[in-house]
Amino acid sequence: MVKDPICGMNVEEKAAGFKSTYQGKIYYFCSPSCKEDFDKAPSKVI
Ligand SMILES: [Zn+2]
Repeated sequence: MVKDPICGMNVEEKAAGFKSTYQGKIYYFCSPSCKEDFDKAPSKVI
């Protein structure tokens, strides 16, 4: 399990439908809206 950096929810990597790569790392999200928020400003989230 990894943490959704937006909402803090635990996400199963293998089942995660939403992910983004930022600075060589893969981040997983619970929902498309969390992914969108991350994609808008990843530097603010990390
Ligand atoms: Zn989320």
